[in-house]
Amino acid sequence: MKTLITGGTVVGPLGAVPTDVLVDGETIAALYAPGVASTGGVVADKVVDATGKYVVPGGVDVHTHMKLPFGGTFASDDFESGTRAAAWGGTTTIIDFAVQRTGEVVQDGLAAWHALADGNCAIDYGFHMIMGGVDDEALKAMDYLVEHEGITSFKLFMAYPGVFYSDDGQILRAMQKASDNGALIMMHAENGIAIDVLAAQAVARGDTDPVFHGITRPSALEGEATHRATVLAQVAGNTPLYFVHMSASEALAHVSAARGAGRNVFAETCPQYLYLTLEDQLGAPGFEGAKWVASPPLRPRDEPHRDDLWRGLRTDDLAVVSTDHCPFCFKDQKELGRGDFTKIPNGIGTVEHRMDLVYQGVATGRLSLERWVETCSTTPARMFGLYPKKGVIAPGSDADIVIYDPNATTTISAATHHMNLDHSAWEGFEIAGKVDTVFSRGTAVVAGGAFHGRAGHGQYLRRGLTQYLR
Ligand SMILES: [Zn+2]
Repeated sequence: MKTLITGGTVVGPLGAVPTDVLVDGETIAALYAPGVASTGGVVADKVVDATGKYVVPGGVDVHTHMKLPFGGTFASDDFESGTRAAAWGGTTTIIDFAVQRTGEVVQDGLAAWHALADGNCAIDYGFHMIMGGVDDEALKAMDYLVEHEGITSFKLFMAYPGVFYSDDGQILRAMQKASDNGALIMMHAENGIAIDVLAAQAVARGDTDPVFHGITRPSALEGEATHRATVLAQVAGNTPLYFVHMSASEALAHVSAARGAGRNVFAETCPQYLYLTLEDQLGAPGFEGAKWVASPPLRPRDEPHRDDLWRGLRTDDLAVVSTDHCPFCFKDQKELGRGDFTKIPNGIGTVEHRMDLVYQGVATGRLSLERWVETCSTTPARMFGLYPKKGVIAPGSDADIVIYDPNATTTISAATHHMNLDHSAWEGFEIAGKVDTVFSRGTAVVAGGAFHGRAGHGQYLRRGLTQYLR
C-alpha cells in the first residue's frame, strides 16, 4: 500500500519546505519536490491532499504514566485509552515509566508493565525504568536492561520520601553505573525531605486547601535539588543527566550553567508550566484547584518562571516538551484529598494536547515552527535513542506523520477529549491550529475527524543510548 501526501509543507529541524511524501507500507519511501511525483509517474494507491497544511513527524511524548499507582489509586488512563488519546493529538510514540517499587525486583516491575501495555497500544511505545530502590541487585539490573531490554533511561526521585525517594548515596551509585553503561539518568528534582516538613506544618496549621500543595513546594527547593543532582553527576563522571518536568527559573539556571560548562545535562518542561499558574488554577476556589495538583507544582503568576521556560525552549537549555501525563478523575480520585491536600493524587492529563499547546507558542510568536517540531518530535527521539526511526520525515524512517492545519482551530474540553478523565486541566483553551490526519507506521489512525486505529497496532520499541552524549 502506497500513500502519497501532496501539497503540504514538511517541517523539520532544517526548515519548512514544500514537499510531497511517499509512504510505502510502514515507512517513508521518498520525498519529492512539489509536482515531481505526479509528472515522474509515481503511482500511489491513495493520495492525501495536504495543501495549506504542515506535514510534521509524529509527536514523541517521553513522559507518560498510564495506570500509575499513586496515593492508593491508579492513573485513570490505561494503555488503550491513553494511547488512543495520544494519537488523536498527533502523538505517535510514548515512552512510559515502568515502576520498580521499593523492595521489588527490577525485572518483575518491568514484566508487570509489559503486561499492562502488550496488545493494548494504538501507537508505538517504549519504557523508562523508575528505580524505587537502588541496591546491588538493582544496579546489576540496570546493565541488563540496557543490554537486553532496550531500556536505556532510569528515573530517580529526590522527592517522595518513603515512596520513590533515593538518598544522595543511592543517586551517586546509580549515576556511577550510568556513567559506565551510557544510560541516561532522569531526575525528579525537588527536595522531598524539606517539602514533607513544610507540608506537615501546613496541615497542622489547618492550611489544607489544594493551593498549599504549591505553597509548600517552593521553587527554591527545585533549584536546590537540581543543583545537587548536577554536582553528583559531575562527581560520578559526567553522567548523562536529564531533568524531568522542569518548572522553576532557579532550576533552569543550574541547567544552563552546567550546559555552559560542557556537561551532559538536559531538561524538559511540560505545557502546564508554560501556561498555568498557582493563583489562576491551583488556587481556584474551594477544592477545584485539586485538578491542577501535580509535582512540581504550578508556579506563582508574578514570578518569572513561565517566561524563563519559554526562553529555555528557544535556547535549547530546555530540549524537550513532554506532558507528564498522569490523569486522575476529580470524582473519587482527586477527592481523596478533600480536607488534606497531601492526599490528593498528583498529576494532570495532557497527552492529547501537547502538540496543540506547544503549537500555540508558534501561533503567538514565542517559538519557531522548527523548534515546535524539534521539542515535540525530533529531539525526544534523539534523546532517547529512537532516531531516525522516529522524529523525522526522511526516507527509511517510520511513517509516523501528522498533517497539521494552521488555519483551523481547536477548543479543548472534557466534553470532546478522548482521555479517560472527567475534567480537563485545559477546559476552554483555544488553539490556533488543529491536528488533521495522523499516520502511525503508515496507517491513518486519525482521519476525517474519526479514529481508525486499533489496540495492538502499537509495537514495543527497544531503544538505543541517548544520541546526545559529549
Ligand atoms: Zn512523571
